Amino acid sequence: MLNSKNHGEIKNTKIIATIGPATRTTEALEKLMIAGLNMTRHNFSHDELETHKTNIETVRATASRINKIVGVMCDLQGPKHRIGDFEKGSEYVYKLELGQDFTLDNNPQLGDETRVYLPHPDVLESLKVGDSILVNDGKVELKVKEKSKGKVITTVIRGKEVWSKRAFNIPNTVLNTEMPTEKDKKDLDFIAKLNPDYIAVSFVQTPSDIKAYRDYLSSKTDHPFKVIAKIEKPIAVQNLKAIIDEADAIMVARGDLGVEMPLEDLPATTLKIIKMSRSQFKPVIVATQMLESMIDNAFPFRSEISDIGSAIYNDTDAIMLSAESSIGKYPTECVEIMSKIAVNVENDIRYYRHKRSVSVSEFGEISPDRAFGSITKMISQHPEIKAIVSFSNEGQSASQIASRRPSELKIIVVSDSQTVSQQLGLFRGVIPVVETYANRNVSTLLGRAKDLALENGLVHTGDWILVSIGMGFEGVKTEQHKASSLITLLQI
Ligand code: PGA
Ligand code: MN
Repeated sequence: MLNSKNHGEIKNTKIIATIGPATRTTEALEKLMIAGLNMTRHNFSHDELETHKTNIETVRATASRINKIVGVMCDLQGPKHRIGDFEKGSEYVYKLELGQDFTLDNNPQLGDETRVYLPHPDVLESLKVGDSILVNDGKVELKVKEKSKGKVITTVIRGKEVWSKRAFNIPNTVLNTEMPTEKDKKDLDFIAKLNPDYIAVSFVQTPSDIKAYRDYLSSKTDHPFKVIAKIEKPIAVQNLKAIIDEADAIMVARGDLGVEMPLEDLPATTLKIIKMSRSQFKPVIVATQMLESMIDNAFPFRSEISDIGSAIYNDTDAIMLSAESSIGKYPTECVEIMSKIAVNVENDIRYYRHKRSVSVSEFGEISPDRAFGSITKMISQHPEIKAIVSFSNEGQSASQIASRRPSELKIIVVSDSQTVSQQLGLFRGVIPVVETYANRNVSTLLGRAKDLALENGLVHTGDWILVSIGMGFEGVKTEQHKASSLITLLQI
């Protein structure tokens, strides 16, 4: 229940933290959850499968012990590429000279200052003269100047330091790696048994990549998981509308995106991805380096505070921690700081929203049965409406309402499904509640809606709430318009 002193409970913006050695105990997880954590991310690029299983079990047990609804995201590596090994061992740093030649080839022998093995025949195949290869987060740039069978000769045009197994990006090359990759298939076989709320697909290029992952995991489990498209390649930005249509949620994966595109394009692209996701009513996550300085320091850079604020002003659903929470020294402080910034920015947005009118222009683009989400948004502009309660077992009508972001109001979503609640918890403003109402009638639900709004500290006597009851409920049931709902207003 809401505690007026706890920013973690008051904020609307959702916080996701990557779980790792710094946060995998139940004590650490409890602290994160109390500070405002809504979802954990499990990064399958690292760690053993059994470690992920244990971590996910600990997350679920901790959340249930302290009575919080926390989603679980399994993030798959996708076609991430790495160079091979060097002669002088994995720690030795080789220094390259600007302008020198450096060869990447299909020879599995250990590398030196002149060449290294590229263990990806498909990549070697698709590289063309003039292409850039960005090693080690773009710190080193190699440009292909000659190509022959089984190798490319490149010129070093930026940076110096390379060592074994560094990841590399090839921004303008469309990869023809088969999706899911072999590693991801193995991981998905394992993930199928863990009932994830979301899986995240890395280096998506087309909508069919999303479908391929969805189909693969669906063939292994009946669990109703959702799929997040990580936007981290320029080609994905080109195919953005279709990818958002196919995915259930979107992540602005600024780490790789910032390497794959000119860095000066990153701000505009981030905004474009958020706006497009929002206009297609899908939840969106802004990720990577949000509090990077806090991996080692107890207090963030001012630029980081502003960056988090901008993401929230720009209307993101969720913000994400990576290394800050997996290996950093101050994971709880990171979540606390994010929560505090969120509360203040959202209050500021609320203040200005009163002065904004609602547009009906989106009606032209959606079918009537999806328009009720927008109607909800319009009605809830009324200053006396203080909260929304949405009864939605399968989450369809609730996600429509929540995705319209009605005036930064809280939306209590009541579902009989733990999974739906954990998934809906990604939407900004949603307070998920698990309760069963199979045979209750409408007046019982309306009474419960009032109580829930009061119990959560959202309303006082005299305030109004908007109540939505999904078409799956007894007394409201219809075969038509699954995603629609009965809407009414109540005074407390
Ligand atoms: P990663 O994805 O951490 O799996 O690389 C996020 C990003 O690239 O920003
Ligand atoms: Mn990435």
